[in-house]
Amino acid sequence: MAHSPEPHTEAVDPAEALRRIAYLMERSRAGSYRVDAFRNALATVKVMDADELAAHVEAGTLTDIPGIGPATAEVIGTAYEGRLPDRLLALQAMAHKPLVTGGADLFGRLRGDCHVHSSWSDGGSPIDEMVLAAMELGQEWMVLTDHSPQLRVANGLSADRLRQQLGVVEALNAALGGAFRLLSGIEVDILDDGGLDQADELLDRLDVVTASVHSKLRMAEEAMTRRMVRAVSGGRVDVLGHCTGRLVEGSRGTRPQSTFDARAVFEACAEHGTAVEINSRPERCDPPDDLIRLADDLGCLFAIDSDAHAPGQLEMKAYGCERAERLGLDPDRIVTTWDVDRLLGWTAR
Ligand SMILES: [Zn+2]
Ligand SMILES: [Zn+2]
Repeated sequence: MAHSPEPHTEAVDPAEALRRIAYLMERSRAGSYRVDAFRNALATVKVMDADELAAHVEAGTLTDIPGIGPATAEVIGTAYEGRLPDRLLALQAMAHKPLVTGGADLFGRLRGDCHVHSSWSDGGSPIDEMVLAAMELGQEWMVLTDHSPQLRVANGLSADRLRQQLGVVEALNAALGGAFRLLSGIEVDILDDGGLDQADELLDRLDVVTASVHSKLRMAEEAMTRRMVRAVSGGRVDVLGHCTGRLVEGSRGTRPQSTFDARAVFEACAEHGTAVEINSRPERCDPPDDLIRLADDLGCLFAIDSDAHAPGQLEMKAYGCERAERLGLDPDRIVTTWDVDRLLGWTAR
């Protein structure tokens, strides 16, 4: 069951104060350069000896610690004294409303997410912080989908780094002891010819494969259709990510949809059991309404995904839920409402 984290009303430790401040800033779409101070201070505090931190608070020397500045020192000091920091209270007061009106019932039915990034590629937080936020949102599972090698600007994972990440995912699940399932995955680039940008042997080991077009978005319609149909028909792609590639707002500017025969692509998705992603990021809002309706008419499955690059962005699935509910999609055909066993049964198809 998905729900916003409950506001803090009682004192919390310095790490939790920093964590929640960062979460609420990310939820409200603050630029990462503003949030970084809080995420960096959190990373510092998490590995610090409690006595050492206390000594710095008592001596008023917190800002001597690399990674801690005046704003974060204020938060740490206040939390240490057993009070909720003003900055946290102010952010909580602004976050009392849901992100969007509508879609609340569907949001409450979500159990997972098939599209999430960590600092292993171009996300801003380590894997454990993404997991913690997902758990606080009341989710049961989440697929870690860092980028593939071709996307160098996003620090895409080589085969070796992905193998290494699989070990980290396994260790995290062991530590979680069944309280939450972190599933292995990838956001693999769909290559120009419709092939996938990672070795088949590795893709076959992953729980969930989400595949997206990130290059040559302006390819001619026929070639783009062939490319996408081939990708979703190869038996390895579970979710087709942000299929039109459009950007409708935001700091990266706008970008039109790619042109392709949507009917042909969605027919292939329906035939091969590939889910069409509803990408919840407000700047993507992808696919547009008419294409969601078409995919629905053709019997496709859907995945309402956050494409989160920071913990607070996991809650953006609320935007995707608003759209899916407004368009009348059947929740049972949205794989992110499924429990983890049903999900894994589907991806093993
Ligand atoms: Zn992407
Ligand atoms: Zn992504």
